[in-house]
Amino acid sequence: MHPLAKLDHQFVWHPFTQMRDWLQREPIVIARGKGAVLWDVNDKEYLDANASIWTNIHGHCHPKINAAIRRQLGRLEHSSALGLANEPASTLAARLIHTVEAGHQWSVSPQARGGAKGKHSKRRPDAPLTKVFYSDNGSTAVEVALKLAHEFARRTGFSKKPKFLSLQGAYHGDTVGAVSVGHIDLFHKAYAGLVFQTDKVMSPYCYRCPFNRARPERGDARDYRQCHWECVDVVEKSFASQTKKGNPYAAFVVEPMIQGAAGMIPQPAGWLRRVAEITRSHHSLFVADEVMIGFGRAGFPESWMASSNPPCPAPLFAVQHEGVQPDMMAIAKGMTGGYLPMAATLTTQAIFDQFLGDYEEFKTFFHGHSYTANQLASVASLASMDLLDSPASIQSRMRLQRHMKTLARDLWTLPQVGDVRQVGLVLGIELVKDWTKRESFPLAERAGMRVCDVMARRGVLSRPIGNVLLIMPPYCTTAKQLQTLFSVLQDAIAEVFPARK
Ligand code: PMP
Repeated sequence: MHPLAKLDHQFVWHPFTQMRDWLQREPIVIARGKGAVLWDVNDKEYLDANASIWTNIHGHCHPKINAAIRRQLGRLEHSSALGLANEPASTLAARLIHTVEAGHQWSVSPQARGGAKGKHSKRRPDAPLTKVFYSDNGSTAVEVALKLAHEFARRTGFSKKPKFLSLQGAYHGDTVGAVSVGHIDLFHKAYAGLVFQTDKVMSPYCYRCPFNRARPERGDARDYRQCHWECVDVVEKSFASQTKKGNPYAAFVVEPMIQGAAGMIPQPAGWLRRVAEITRSHHSLFVADEVMIGFGRAGFPESWMASSNPPCPAPLFAVQHEGVQPDMMAIAKGMTGGYLPMAATLTTQAIFDQFLGDYEEFKTFFHGHSYTANQLASVASLASMDLLDSPASIQSRMRLQRHMKTLARDLWTLPQVGDVRQVGLVLGIELVKDWTKRESFPLAERAGMRVCDVMARRGVLSRPIGNVLLIMPPYCTTAKQLQTLFSVLQDAIAEVFPARK
């Protein structure tokens, strides 16, 4: 065993990992990377098919981000945001706010913009996001949103005991507040005694939706579903019944466009806009968790790609695809291009204003982390946003989205593939025992894990979510690398599930 692997075995406890299994075999020890490629200590090459747990967007060791960090290192590594401002963090906050608001011009209907008539005419009007509260990771960005929503509801007299709603299967992080709005029993049940009570509502999982009357087909279930938006009615009913109790939800926390750790569950077009409207009509806050999907992962709407003269900058956030204006937005993962831990919670002026007062009123938001607004992370984020806005990156993201779509079609030939679902630059592949019945593999069979083990042996790194395989490559992944990645994926599925003679 490599000496570094031995050190790991002796001293490191890995996240979301059964350490008994881990200790039974030599781990892959990563030594270096370039673009979409990682090398281990034995110089074996791997394609980073899940972008280092969904964080890396422009590729590893990008010269522009490296240079930005190096420049900042020559000035200062970190100074506290408790009592001090700093240049990169202020510049970045302005850039984030302008980017989020600029991208909203696309596909925004008058209803979604606030002038709605009809069913939800008494809805709370939309307000732009104007403030950035920095933290260090996706969980803390969500945690901050929950605390702010809690206090906003109490201080405005909206609710004495603020209550939250989130989606079935939701995952919003591992800190206790984020776990409270999470609804994955496997991860969260053990901590039931530790968390606060929240409600869950059905998520629009078209492939396994009890309201979808369509029989399984070899195509994305969102496209052939037969339903009447019953899932939206269920959301409406949840809100109505909570409002009727005299304690409307303080906030609805949602991953827009696709739920990641829930199993890459994409929402059919129009779902997000509808539930955001319902939230507003009940005067609750709409909190968008863009930790996974932000910073370009949601790709481009087809109409944007087809337009020779799009009316606004390329959308970088999922809510922009449906013209939804959230009251708070949590961002992390891709924020620094996958370089350094940094996150933020973006909020409206109305929320910010509830924390203003005379000193002795102690309305201050008493929350903050030591590395908040770190300079190295801020310059990495700024460099990453420069890259995201560059025509070269936009072109390569559009190409990647199209290539992924084309290559994903071949996966339908595999009998163990039940559903293939793509949202922009994310692809989820649900493995099933019998696709004609949508019959799942029992989790104990580790179907996804076994396929990923073979993929790793063949030089492609990814990590499944139960029976769902995922492909989420860095945006710089070339057509040739993507081709290799898909053929390794297909071969691995065939190796784990050999055809019966
Ligand atoms: N929200 C979402 C949607 C996520 O996917 C994750 C991480 N997978 C988190 C929150 C938590 O982020 P972190 O791991 O950075 O705490």
